Amino acid sequence: MNLCPCGARGDGSASCSCTAQRLASYRAKLSRALLDRFDLVVAVPRPRATELAAGAAEASAPVAVRVALAREALAILPLRRSADADALLTRAVDRLPLSGRGRARVARVARTIAALAGTEEVQAEHVAEALAYRSPQELA
Ligand SMILES: [Zn+2]
Repeated sequence: MNLCPCGARGDGSASCSCTAQRLASYRAKLSRALLDRFDLVVAVPRPRATELAAGAAEASAPVAVRVALAREALAILPLRRSADADALLTRAVDRLPLSGRGRARVARVARTIAALAGTEEVQAEHVAEALAYRSPQELA
């Protein structure tokens, strides 16, 4: 979704014309309960012409192979969290407004990140990356 109704917010080359009231109304449509149901919330700025002309940084085929291998690995043996990863997840639940559903999603995303990295255990860095994909509104 756009960051604002006019779509210019967050774009350095455009000027947002939304009023504060319109922006608040737009954001109010995204309740915390709804945001809680997304695994990943990632800002994607509008690409510049040179970025579009450069093409893909990585071909899709190798990525598809990595994803298939990670899925197989997770299906065979679910990854366990290290003690540090568990401690970080516990601290995040205590300090952030993270619901039970949000905690489960962070844990699942961390497991996926670890599987894609080819590790045998979910590390704290994987949990930290998964936390970074939570909505800034949710974590505020
Ligand atoms: Zn706007």
